[in-house]
Amino acid sequence: TDPIHVIGGGLAGSEAAWQIAKAGIPVILHEMRGTRETAAHKTDGLAELVCSNSFRSDDATSNAVGVIHAEMRLAGSLIMASADAHQVPAGGALAVDRDGFSDAVTKQLAKHPLITIVREEIMALPPEDWDQAIIATGPLTAPALAEAIQARTGKEALAFFDAIAPIVHRDTIDMETAWYQSRYDKIGPGGTGKDYINCPMDESQYNAFIDALISGDKTEFKEWEGTPYFDGCLPIEVMAERGRETLRHGPMKPMGLTNQHNPTVKPYAVVQLRQDNALGTLYNMVGFQTKLRYGAQKDIFRMIPGLENAEFARLGGLHRNTYLNSPTLLDGTLTLKGRPGLRFAGQITGCEGYVESASIGLLAGRFAAAERLGHAPVAPPPESALGALLAHVTGGHISHEEEKGKRSFQPMNVNFGLFPELEPGSLIDPETGKKPRGKAKSSVKKQLMAKRALDACKAWLGD
Ligand code: FAD
Repeated sequence: TDPIHVIGGGLAGSEAAWQIAKAGIPVILHEMRGTRETAAHKTDGLAELVCSNSFRSDDATSNAVGVIHAEMRLAGSLIMASADAHQVPAGGALAVDRDGFSDAVTKQLAKHPLITIVREEIMALPPEDWDQAIIATGPLTAPALAEAIQARTGKEALAFFDAIAPIVHRDTIDMETAWYQSRYDKIGPGGTGKDYINCPMDESQYNAFIDALISGDKTEFKEWEGTPYFDGCLPIEVMAERGRETLRHGPMKPMGLTNQHNPTVKPYAVVQLRQDNALGTLYNMVGFQTKLRYGAQKDIFRMIPGLENAEFARLGGLHRNTYLNSPTLLDGTLTLKGRPGLRFAGQITGCEGYVESASIGLLAGRFAAAERLGHAPVAPPPESALGALLAHVTGGHISHEEEKGKRSFQPMNVNFGLFPELEPGSLIDPETGKKPRGKAKSSVKKQLMAKRALDACKAWLGD
């Protein structure tokens, strides 16, 4: 049998290669480290963790990351088996000895009879005679290949990830304070005039907020983050430093908005949140890209009326990064449209994090293997964590092709906001048999979603 080629031996490529070999198909894994370095990696080991050593929560009963860990274990993941074998104590989190972990992955792949590891930089798109290939070269894809991908996908398709604003779980926004309204009630294509969530501020709240932004703890750019930010997306704390009124005339302007809880009092400033996913469970803070430290972001953004108890699906940040506009470019099983047999996997597809990158690698590997064996690849159901993440990446939740191009697509960690809502009426606490109230509501919801996810994943693997 012809081998399947995997380019990049990071978190995603290592897992993809393993899944393909597990299906009995030969793999050639092309990894450039050993011949060429990246700006962040420090070793030649496969699946090197470039920064923290944490795989985050391992709680599969009520945490979306824990659930995806469990699903990957069910699917025979090499990344998870190696992490489990090299675990270090970290409370409820799964943290690993990074060298032990990377050595284990490298050795398992190297000794597998169907896997050949070639240390070389791939400089162009895979040749047509590699009928199955996976590009998993990560956020630091070497320049020649990045240019080749860009030439094939179009300039705006390989985005330079310069700024992200925080994303909030909608059900943690206090709608007794905030309200739905588009500025000037404008009805855009597909809109209702109520497309934004608005949080009002009076003058003293605004002034306290500006003071907190100016004095908030900021991150310094590391040298690999040398990308300058362009004027259109300055971090909010930089705008605040430019003048006390700058934000009130910029992203926080109150014009065209009427506080529906208090229509006679004009807000002094307004923070707007825009729907972020097709499910409507996540909202991003408009114009709030920031390089405040994570702790400072939570404290300062919870000063905003309506966001006092906000839970963040992702915090803001400024990074240099390359990723594809996957919802428009990839099909539902990660194949580049118009180029059968060529898949992408890992962070380059627009997921974020070690675990997520490895998960997308796992799926790409399984899809490629299925295709090579003559079966149509079957995507995991969106109720599973793997399926929810895949749907985020490939735009599976969005039914209209045209809509996929319009939405701003941003890398994201797996979180329950990406999962479809529970069936109406099914939010019942299994312990009490009653509808949960207050804080219990969100924890019961997470437990039910976690259980539903694992059941869906088992059914998918069983098939
Ligand atoms: P990688 O793990 O980077 O693997 C890509 C591989 O492809 C590399 O081994 C690279 O050498 C190789 N390669 C690149 N180009 C070529 C080529 N042309 N030919 C052959 N090989 C090539 N996530 C977290 O969860 N926690 C963190 O703390 C964290 N910190 C991060 C810090 C930095 C500086 C960066 C850039 C990212 C961080 N991430 C973090 C995000 C993400 O989880 C990691 O980048 C993750 O490693 C992505 O997995 P991947 O397999 O897509 O890419």
